[in-house]
Amino acid sequence: MPTTLHSWRRKLAAVLEWSPVDKGQIPLFMLVPIMSQYVLWAYVVLQRPDRERLVVVPTLELHLILCLAIIAGGVLLMLLGAWLRRRTPASLFFQHLAVQYYAATLIFMGYQVGLTEIAAGLVLLGAPVFGFIVLDRRAVWLGTLTSLVLFFALSLATLHGHLPYAPILAPAADASARQFHFYSLIGFSAPHFIFILLLADQTLHFWRRREDTIRELSRTDVLTGLPNRRSILELLEKETARTRRHGPPMCVVILDLDHFKRVNDTWGHPTGDRVLQTAARVLRENLRTCDTIGRYGGEEFLMVLPDTSVEGAAALLERCRAALAATEIRTGTGEHFHISASFGVMSNHKDFDVDAAALIKAADDALYRAKENGRNRVEMAA
Ligand code: GH3
Ligand code: MG
Ligand code: MG
Repeated sequence: MPTTLHSWRRKLAAVLEWSPVDKGQIPLFMLVPIMSQYVLWAYVVLQRPDRERLVVVPTLELHLILCLAIIAGGVLLMLLGAWLRRRTPASLFFQHLAVQYYAATLIFMGYQVGLTEIAAGLVLLGAPVFGFIVLDRRAVWLGTLTSLVLFFALSLATLHGHLPYAPILAPAADASARQFHFYSLIGFSAPHFIFILLLADQTLHFWRRREDTIRELSRTDVLTGLPNRRSILELLEKETARTRRHGPPMCVVILDLDHFKRVNDTWGHPTGDRVLQTAARVLRENLRTCDTIGRYGGEEFLMVLPDTSVEGAAALLERCRAALAATEIRTGTGEHFHISASFGVMSNHKDFDVDAAALIKAADDALYRAKENGRNRVEMAA
């Protein structure tokens, strides 16, 4: 049961991904059951022997027919949506149509039971708020405008005596009639309002989770799962700012896989990709938890080692270098080979004011020397 509920919630919340035409069905899906509930209510009330005391019978009968017409119109619109979803799923026209229909109907419903009742107001407020999350904002603004214009027109007409207020309800003669009016009003608006709230909550929850995923993706390298260039550079900026002036010393490392082009040329690009993934894993496993490694470029990685002396970095990187050199890569054909990397290291222990760009430049120069001096080695910047 929890899984069914979970998948139901996920489907519901995924409305953000729906096409504009499918989203346009949402107001209609809300409208048709509500109107059907209303028709049922009217039918039951009209069967009661004391109906004259509660409602204005001829008006309610007329409104019942109007409501049936509105349901029929809603179903026709839904069918139109079902037809359009395959032809022009991106069209906003249907959304405008559905929102206008919904807005006008809502006011019509509200007018029947009293537009200035708080229950009617909750729905009138809740509907556009939910609408803004899911639907096209212009469609929602125009729908809100329609309902506001109708709201004021009907309210003014009732205020000036041109139309009766809450025309289907008989003037409440006693407490039980007032109770009947109150519960009827709650019965109409509560399901609507609860549905809007639940849908808004689920959709926003889904939205926040999607935001988190997107933020994570924008900071992660797809191939290796390490922080990407932007993310590791941001971290380096933060660390240099943190240690500026007072330390403690930190180290920046740039490392580059040796003869990586040869790996690609000999074993193919997919094996090259696997080498990058393996190297990333081995390096991360050999770092301390406070250290960070990110993918800086193609087969280059950048490490930020906070609170680390030159000696500490030398020992740590020697461990990384050896672990990498000892790693065996197996190819799809059963053969195997070894890889290695060259490391350039720069520390800010002599000058805490040095900025991130200067640290990188010095580490890069040291890396260049490591390559020149035979590769598979760690070289410290002077
Ligand atoms: P050196 O020891 O001097 O660093 O030699 P190298 O061959 O490693 O250096 P070079 O810069 O010439 O080659 C880097 C290669 O890395 C070239 C490029 O095709 C490859 N490369 C970059 N990104 C990727 C990637 O995401 N996947 C794979 N498979 N190869 C990549
Ligand atoms: Mg390179
Ligand atoms: Mg290389």
